[in-house]
Amino acid sequence: MVSRVVFGRGSFNQLDEILAPKRKGRNAPFIFYVDDVFKGNHWLTSRITLSYKDKIIYIPTKEEPRTDQIDQLVEDIILEYSELPSGIIGIGGGTVLDIAKAVSLMLTNKGESKDYQGWDLIKHPAIYHVGIPTISGTGAEVSRTTILTGPVRKLGINSDHTPFYQVILDPELTKDVPKDQWFYTGMDCFVHCVESLTGTYLNAFSQSYGEKAYELCKEIFLGDSLSPEESQDKLMMASWHGGMSIAYSQVGVAHAMSYGLGYLLGVKHGIGNCIVFDHLEEYYPEGVAIFKQMKAKHNIKLPQGICADLEQDQFDIMIDVALSLEPLWENAIGKNWRTVITREKLLELYKKM
Ligand code: NAD
Ligand code: ZN
Repeated sequence: MVSRVVFGRGSFNQLDEILAPKRKGRNAPFIFYVDDVFKGNHWLTSRITLSYKDKIIYIPTKEEPRTDQIDQLVEDIILEYSELPSGIIGIGGGTVLDIAKAVSLMLTNKGESKDYQGWDLIKHPAIYHVGIPTISGTGAEVSRTTILTGPVRKLGINSDHTPFYQVILDPELTKDVPKDQWFYTGMDCFVHCVESLTGTYLNAFSQSYGEKAYELCKEIFLGDSLSPEESQDKLMMASWHGGMSIAYSQVGVAHAMSYGLGYLLGVKHGIGNCIVFDHLEEYYPEGVAIFKQMKAKHNIKLPQGICADLEQDQFDIMIDVALSLEPLWENAIGKNWRTVITREKLLELYKKM
């Protein structure tokens, strides 16, 4: 679990005082990975104080993190500095948070990040790393995974060393998120809850977090009573609880199939989950019905026909990626999932998208 967390509008102002005691010396910098949407945004960047060899690196977020990108970022740090950094700070959405987690792990674990995709393969604790979300929904700020696209699969580095040492939850940082993106990333949280709460891995720990996040999502996306500030505050906590819920269970069908879309077509996680979830009434009847209400209320138009022109070998790649995520299927369907989830079934579903 994340060992330290502060919450509150304006809590980002505490960044300097939180980091100061963690500095290991002049030659051990803090590296800030910041979503490049904040480049030139004085309101945010003026609150990051750079001392000695500290550095801000702006991260483009058109594409999700790749293993070779992580390896390059790690090599850049090793070549530029004589000592390991004092800390890695990620400021952004799931993309940047995952990059911060992965780089902090790969600075202390030998070899290439692709070799650590999976469960509990990391051997050594990461460098001190801090997560500061600027958009809510993924739960990446609280989870024990960092999801990377590698040469053969899109899969997380899941380990007890992956979670942040410190998280700063400042809902004010999310105030300028564009509406469509707010919906897509927010629905990632909603889908986490549905997949966790209906899964065979469910237990009292996951259920207690999942139910809370599910209620918050309904209040935020279906209700009319919240001010924008209340809605930002609550979505940040929903994201946290949704992440906690899957930390001790698993995601399910939507995530497995969305990883296929992400791997082959580069469809991003939030919108990908929405595209998939829209067609999953067979597996999640109640969740999908509520999702459709939310979509209608906020006038969200999802892309249609993204698989219309694909060839059979392309469908095969997506199906291979989806089927390789065995724990997700086992959670969603049960131990006998292979008898239900056939290649033909997945092909039929992908063709609808
Ligand atoms: P993202 O990080 O790509 O951000 C989405 C968009 O929102 C980007 O264009 C970004 O620039 C913009 N944005 C972010 N904050 C903003 C702000 N305050 N104002 C204006 N624009 C802002 O997307 P995401 O949905 O947050 O994260 C998706 C990524 O998270 C994927 O790579 C996915 O694999 C990963 N993920 C990780 C976990 C985990 O547990 N580690 C869980 C779910 C998803
Ligand atoms: Zn997700």
